Amino acid sequence: MTKTAAMERLITIIEETAGLSSCCLPDDVVDRLTALRAKEDSAMGKRIYDAMFTDLNMAESSRRPCCQDTGVLQFFVRAGVSFPWLAELETCLREAVIRATASVPLRPNVVECFDEKNTGNNTGKHIPWIDWEIVPGTDKLELFMYMAGGGCSLPGFARVFMPLDGYEGALKAVVDQVRSYGVNACPPLLVGIGLSGQADTAAKLSKKALLRFIGTRNSNPKAAALEEKLELTLNSIGIGAGGFGGNHSVMAVHIEEAGRHTAALAVGLSTGCWAHRRVLIEIGADLNYTIVSHKRAAQQWSLP
Ligand code: SF4
Repeated sequence: MTKTAAMERLITIIEETAGLSSCCLPDDVVDRLTALRAKEDSAMGKRIYDAMFTDLNMAESSRRPCCQDTGVLQFFVRAGVSFPWLAELETCLREAVIRATASVPLRPNVVECFDEKNTGNNTGKHIPWIDWEIVPGTDKLELFMYMAGGGCSLPGFARVFMPLDGYEGALKAVVDQVRSYGVNACPPLLVGIGLSGQADTAAKLSKKALLRFIGTRNSNPKAAALEEKLELTLNSIGIGAGGFGGNHSVMAVHIEEAGRHTAALAVGLSTGCWAHRRVLIEIGADLNYTIVSHKRAAQQWSLP
Protein backbone atom coordinates (compact mmCIF):
# COMPACT_ATOMS: atom_id res chain seq x y z
CA MET A 1 0.00 0.00 0.00
CA THR A 2 1.34 3.45 -0.85
CA LYS A 3 1.80 6.03 1.89
CA THR A 4 -0.95 8.19 0.37
CA ALA A 5 -3.41 5.28 0.24
CA ALA A 6 -2.58 4.23 3.80
CA MET A 7 -3.06 7.75 5.13
CA GLU A 8 -6.37 8.11 3.31
CA ARG A 9 -7.58 4.82 4.79
CA LEU A 10 -6.54 5.78 8.31
CA ILE A 11 -8.22 9.18 8.00
CA THR A 12 -11.43 7.59 6.71
CA ILE A 13 -11.51 4.99 9.50
CA ILE A 14 -11.08 7.66 12.18
CA GLU A 15 -13.53 10.10 10.54
CA GLU A 16 -16.24 7.45 10.21
CA THR A 17 -15.64 6.19 13.74
CA ALA A 18 -16.03 9.74 15.05
CA GLY A 19 -19.47 9.74 13.42
CA LEU A 20 -20.35 6.42 15.00
CA SER A 21 -19.11 7.62 18.38
CA SER A 22 -21.09 10.84 18.30
CA CYS A 23 -24.35 9.00 17.56
CA CYS A 24 -24.03 5.68 19.42
CA LEU A 25 -22.77 5.02 22.92
CA PRO A 26 -20.38 2.14 23.68
CA ASP A 27 -21.93 -1.23 24.55
CA ASP A 28 -20.77 -1.10 28.17
CA VAL A 29 -22.31 2.34 28.73
CA VAL A 30 -25.66 1.32 27.18
CA ASP A 31 -25.68 -1.83 29.32
CA ARG A 32 -25.02 0.14 32.50
CA LEU A 33 -27.64 2.80 31.73
CA THR A 34 -30.14 -0.01 31.05
CA ALA A 35 -29.30 -1.64 34.39
CA LEU A 36 -29.60 1.68 36.26
CA ARG A 37 -32.98 2.39 34.65
CA ALA A 38 -34.22 -0.99 35.89
CA LYS A 39 -33.03 -0.24 39.44
CA GLU A 40 -34.29 3.36 39.63
CA ASP A 41 -37.17 3.98 42.05
CA SER A 42 -37.73 7.67 41.42
CA ALA A 43 -40.49 8.44 38.88
CA MET A 44 -38.57 11.45 37.58
CA GLY A 45 -35.41 9.37 37.35
CA LYS A 46 -37.19 6.77 35.22
CA ARG A 47 -38.47 9.50 32.91
CA ILE A 48 -34.95 10.89 32.51
CA TYR A 49 -33.57 7.46 31.58
CA ASP A 50 -36.45 6.97 29.13
CA ALA A 51 -35.66 10.35 27.55
CA MET A 52 -32.01 9.28 27.22
CA PHE A 53 -32.99 6.06 25.42
CA THR A 54 -35.42 7.93 23.14
CA ASP A 55 -32.59 10.32 22.31
CA LEU A 56 -30.18 7.45 21.65
CA ASN A 57 -32.64 5.64 19.37
CA MET A 58 -33.31 8.81 17.38
CA ALA A 59 -29.60 9.63 17.16
CA GLU A 60 -28.76 6.16 15.88
CA SER A 61 -31.61 5.97 13.34
CA SER A 62 -31.10 9.50 12.02
CA ARG A 63 -27.33 9.41 12.31
CA ARG A 64 -27.22 12.64 14.26
CA PRO A 65 -25.11 13.26 17.38
CA CYS A 66 -26.84 12.15 20.60
CA CYS A 67 -25.77 15.39 22.32
CA GLN A 68 -25.36 18.85 20.84
CA ASP A 69 -21.99 19.11 22.58
CA THR A 70 -19.82 16.77 20.53
CA GLY A 71 -16.89 17.73 22.68
CA VAL A 72 -13.22 18.29 22.03
CA LEU A 73 -11.51 15.20 20.65
CA GLN A 74 -8.75 13.49 22.57
CA PHE A 75 -6.83 10.45 21.37
CA PHE A 76 -5.04 7.93 23.57
CA VAL A 77 -2.73 5.90 21.38
CA ARG A 78 -1.12 2.60 22.29
CA ALA A 79 1.07 2.14 19.26
CA GLY A 80 3.01 -1.00 18.54
CA VAL A 81 6.61 -0.04 17.88
CA SER A 82 6.39 -1.81 14.50
CA PHE A 83 3.09 -0.27 13.37
CA PRO A 84 4.06 0.77 9.84
CA TRP A 85 2.24 4.12 9.74
CA LEU A 86 3.41 5.56 13.05
CA ALA A 87 5.07 8.59 11.47
CA GLU A 88 1.89 9.51 9.60
CA LEU A 89 -0.55 8.94 12.46
CA GLU A 90 -0.59 12.41 14.02
CA THR A 91 -1.29 14.04 10.65
CA CYS A 92 -4.07 11.52 10.02
CA LEU A 93 -5.72 12.11 13.42
CA ARG A 94 -5.74 15.86 12.90
CA GLU A 95 -7.09 15.62 9.35
CA ALA A 96 -9.78 13.13 10.46
CA VAL A 97 -11.00 15.61 13.09
CA ILE A 98 -11.25 18.38 10.50
CA ARG A 99 -13.16 16.15 8.08
CA ALA A 100 -15.46 14.72 10.78
CA THR A 101 -16.32 18.24 11.95
CA ALA A 102 -17.73 18.93 8.49
CA SER A 103 -19.16 15.50 7.60
CA VAL A 104 -20.76 14.19 10.83
CA PRO A 105 -21.13 17.13 11.64
CA LEU A 106 -19.43 17.84 14.96
CA ARG A 107 -20.04 21.16 16.67
CA PRO A 108 -16.94 23.34 16.38
CA ASN A 109 -16.03 23.71 20.05
CA VAL A 110 -12.37 24.69 20.03
CA VAL A 111 -11.35 28.25 20.79
CA GLU A 112 -7.70 29.21 21.03
CA CYS A 113 -6.72 30.40 24.50
CA PHE A 114 -6.10 34.16 24.72
CA ASP A 115 -7.46 34.84 21.20
CA GLU A 116 -10.86 33.42 22.25
CA LYS A 117 -11.50 32.77 18.57
CA ASN A 118 -13.20 29.59 17.39
CA THR A 119 -10.97 27.74 14.95
CA GLY A 120 -14.06 26.34 13.21
CA ASN A 121 -12.77 22.81 12.75
CA ASN A 122 -12.14 21.40 16.25
CA THR A 123 -8.38 21.65 15.93
CA GLY A 124 -6.08 24.12 17.63
CA LYS A 125 -2.81 24.32 19.49
CA HIS A 126 -2.21 20.79 20.91
CA ILE A 127 -5.77 19.85 19.90
CA PRO A 128 -6.78 17.15 19.16
CA TRP A 129 -4.84 16.13 22.26
CA ILE A 130 -2.79 13.01 21.58
CA ASP A 131 -1.42 10.83 24.37
CA TRP A 132 1.21 8.34 23.18
CA GLU A 133 2.24 4.98 24.57
CA ILE A 134 4.71 2.94 22.54
CA VAL A 135 4.22 -0.81 22.98
CA PRO A 136 7.20 -3.06 22.25
CA GLY A 137 6.90 -6.30 20.26
CA THR A 138 3.77 -5.57 18.23
CA ASP A 139 2.73 -3.94 14.93
CA LYS A 140 -0.84 -3.15 16.04
CA LEU A 141 -2.45 0.08 17.08
CA GLU A 142 -4.97 0.53 19.89
CA LEU A 143 -6.67 3.85 19.52
CA PHE A 144 -9.03 5.35 22.09
CA MET A 145 -11.01 8.37 20.90
CA TYR A 146 -12.75 10.41 23.58
CA MET A 147 -15.15 13.27 22.99
CA ALA A 148 -14.65 15.53 26.00
CA GLY A 149 -17.81 17.58 26.48
CA GLY A 150 -17.78 20.93 28.27
CA GLY A 151 -20.20 19.98 31.04
CA CYS A 152 -18.60 16.65 31.83
CA SER A 153 -15.19 18.34 32.07
CA LEU A 154 -16.38 20.84 34.69
CA PRO A 155 -15.91 18.75 37.86
CA GLY A 156 -12.33 17.81 36.95
CA PHE A 157 -9.41 18.73 39.18
CA ALA A 158 -5.94 17.62 40.25
CA ARG A 159 -4.41 18.43 43.62
CA VAL A 160 -1.45 17.36 45.74
CA PHE A 161 -2.10 16.56 49.40
CA MET A 162 0.18 16.61 52.40
CA PRO A 163 1.07 13.08 53.53
CA LEU A 164 -0.89 13.54 56.76
CA ASP A 165 -4.07 14.16 54.78
CA GLY A 166 -3.83 10.51 53.78
CA TYR A 167 -6.00 8.67 51.29
CA GLU A 168 -9.03 9.70 53.36
CA GLY A 169 -8.34 13.41 52.77
CA ALA A 170 -7.68 12.94 49.07
CA LEU A 171 -10.80 10.89 48.46
CA LYS A 172 -12.96 13.19 50.58
CA ALA A 173 -11.95 15.94 48.14
CA VAL A 174 -13.22 13.77 45.28
CA VAL A 175 -16.56 13.18 47.00
CA ASP A 176 -16.91 16.88 47.85
CA GLN A 177 -16.15 17.84 44.26
CA VAL A 178 -18.73 15.44 42.83
CA ARG A 179 -21.27 16.62 45.39
CA SER A 180 -20.70 20.27 44.42
CA TYR A 181 -20.19 20.05 40.66
CA GLY A 182 -21.42 16.62 39.57
CA VAL A 183 -24.82 17.92 38.56
CA ASN A 184 -23.16 20.08 35.86
CA ALA A 185 -21.84 16.96 34.15
CA CYS A 186 -25.17 15.33 33.20
CA PRO A 187 -25.28 12.35 35.59
CA PRO A 188 -25.18 9.41 36.05
CA LEU A 189 -21.43 9.96 35.90
CA LEU A 190 -18.47 7.79 35.16
CA VAL A 191 -15.94 8.89 37.76
CA GLY A 192 -12.24 8.51 36.96
CA ILE A 193 -9.74 8.90 39.80
CA GLY A 194 -5.96 8.99 39.39
CA LEU A 195 -3.66 8.50 42.38
CA SER A 196 -0.01 9.39 42.07
CA GLY A 197 2.69 11.61 43.52
CA GLN A 198 2.30 14.58 41.17
CA ALA A 199 -0.67 16.57 39.90
CA ASP A 200 0.11 15.99 36.21
CA THR A 201 0.33 12.20 36.42
CA ALA A 202 -2.71 11.97 38.69
CA ALA A 203 -4.73 14.02 36.19
CA LYS A 204 -3.64 11.89 33.26
CA LEU A 205 -4.44 8.67 35.12
CA SER A 206 -7.89 9.96 36.02
CA LYS A 207 -8.67 10.44 32.32
CA LYS A 208 -7.28 7.01 31.50
CA ALA A 209 -9.60 5.61 34.17
CA LEU A 210 -12.51 6.86 32.04
CA LEU A 211 -11.27 4.79 29.10
CA ARG A 212 -11.57 1.51 31.00
CA PHE A 213 -14.77 -0.39 30.21
CA ILE A 214 -17.58 -0.26 32.76
CA GLY A 215 -17.91 -3.61 34.53
CA THR A 216 -14.16 -4.02 34.96
CA ARG A 217 -12.31 -3.47 38.23
CA ASN A 218 -8.80 -2.32 39.11
CA SER A 219 -6.60 -5.44 39.28
CA ASN A 220 -5.42 -4.49 42.79
CA PRO A 221 -8.00 -5.92 45.27
CA LYS A 222 -7.67 -2.94 47.62
CA ALA A 223 -8.25 -0.49 44.76
CA ALA A 224 -11.16 -2.57 43.48
CA ALA A 225 -12.75 -2.53 46.94
CA LEU A 226 -12.28 1.24 47.08
CA GLU A 227 -13.98 1.62 43.69
CA GLU A 228 -17.01 -0.25 45.06
CA LYS A 229 -17.03 1.74 48.29
CA LEU A 230 -16.85 5.07 46.45
CA GLU A 231 -19.70 4.01 44.16
CA LEU A 232 -21.87 3.39 47.22
CA THR A 233 -20.83 6.71 48.76
CA LEU A 234 -21.45 8.74 45.62
CA ASN A 235 -24.77 7.03 44.95
CA SER A 236 -25.87 7.90 48.49
CA ILE A 237 -25.54 11.61 47.65
CA GLY A 238 -28.75 11.19 45.63
CA ILE A 239 -27.92 13.38 42.62
CA GLY A 240 -29.68 10.88 40.36
CA ALA A 241 -30.13 10.85 36.60
CA GLY A 242 -30.00 14.34 35.14
CA GLY A 243 -29.55 15.73 38.65
CA PHE A 244 -33.25 15.28 39.48
CA GLY A 245 -32.63 12.95 42.42
CA GLY A 246 -32.52 9.20 42.49
CA ASN A 247 -30.67 6.29 43.95
CA HIS A 248 -27.81 6.19 41.41
CA SER A 249 -25.56 9.15 40.72
CA VAL A 250 -22.73 7.24 39.07
CA MET A 251 -22.41 4.58 36.39
CA ALA A 252 -19.13 3.48 37.98
CA VAL A 253 -15.99 4.66 39.75
CA HIS A 254 -12.64 3.69 38.22
CA ILE A 255 -9.28 4.20 39.89
CA GLU A 256 -5.89 4.09 38.18
CA GLU A 257 -2.75 4.50 40.22
CA ALA A 258 1.01 4.95 39.88
CA GLY A 259 3.85 4.57 42.34
CA ARG A 260 4.30 7.83 44.23
CA HIS A 261 6.81 9.79 46.23
CA THR A 262 6.38 8.85 49.86
CA ALA A 263 6.00 12.53 50.83
CA ALA A 264 3.25 13.46 48.38
CA LEU A 265 -0.15 12.10 47.45
CA ALA A 266 -1.78 13.55 44.36
CA VAL A 267 -5.34 12.90 43.28
CA GLY A 268 -6.86 13.65 39.91
CA LEU A 269 -10.55 13.57 39.04
CA SER A 270 -12.13 13.31 35.59
CA THR A 271 -15.82 12.74 35.02
CA GLY A 272 -17.72 11.35 32.07
CA CYS A 273 -21.40 12.09 31.54
CA TRP A 274 -24.21 9.64 30.71
CA ALA A 275 -23.37 10.27 27.03
CA HIS A 276 -19.87 8.89 27.54
CA ARG A 277 -18.50 8.90 23.99
CA ARG A 278 -15.41 6.76 24.08
CA VAL A 279 -14.34 4.43 21.28
CA LEU A 280 -11.66 1.78 21.18
CA ILE A 281 -10.44 0.83 17.71
CA GLU A 282 -7.85 -1.87 17.11
CA ILE A 283 -6.03 -1.38 13.83
CA GLY A 284 -3.68 -3.94 12.33
CA ALA A 285 -0.56 -3.30 10.27
CA ASP A 286 -2.63 -4.12 7.14
CA LEU A 287 -5.16 -1.42 8.24
CA ASN A 288 -7.94 -3.90 8.86
CA TYR A 289 -9.63 -2.89 12.08
CA THR A 290 -12.18 -3.75 14.77
CA ILE A 291 -14.27 -1.37 16.81
CA VAL A 292 -14.01 -3.12 20.15
CA SER A 293 -16.23 -0.79 22.18
CA HIS A 294 -19.27 -0.65 19.85
CA LYS A 295 -19.90 -4.21 18.66
CA ARG A 296 -23.70 -3.75 18.53
CA ALA A 297 -23.78 -0.36 16.79
CA ALA A 298 -20.91 -1.16 14.43
CA GLN A 299 -23.01 -3.95 12.87
CA GLN A 300 -25.63 -1.40 11.73
CA TRP A 301 -23.15 1.23 10.64
CA SER A 302 -21.62 0.99 7.18
CA LEU A 303 -17.97 1.47 7.92
CA PRO A 304 -15.16 1.51 5.35
S1 SF4 B 1 -22.24 16.80 29.93
FE1 SF4 B 1 -22.40 15.23 28.29
S2 SF4 B 1 -24.60 14.95 27.91
FE2 SF4 B 1 -24.33 16.86 29.09
S3 SF4 B 1 -24.26 18.47 27.53
FE3 SF4 B 1 -22.15 17.89 27.98
S4 SF4 B 1 -21.61 16.30 26.49
FE4 SF4 B 1 -23.85 16.51 26.49
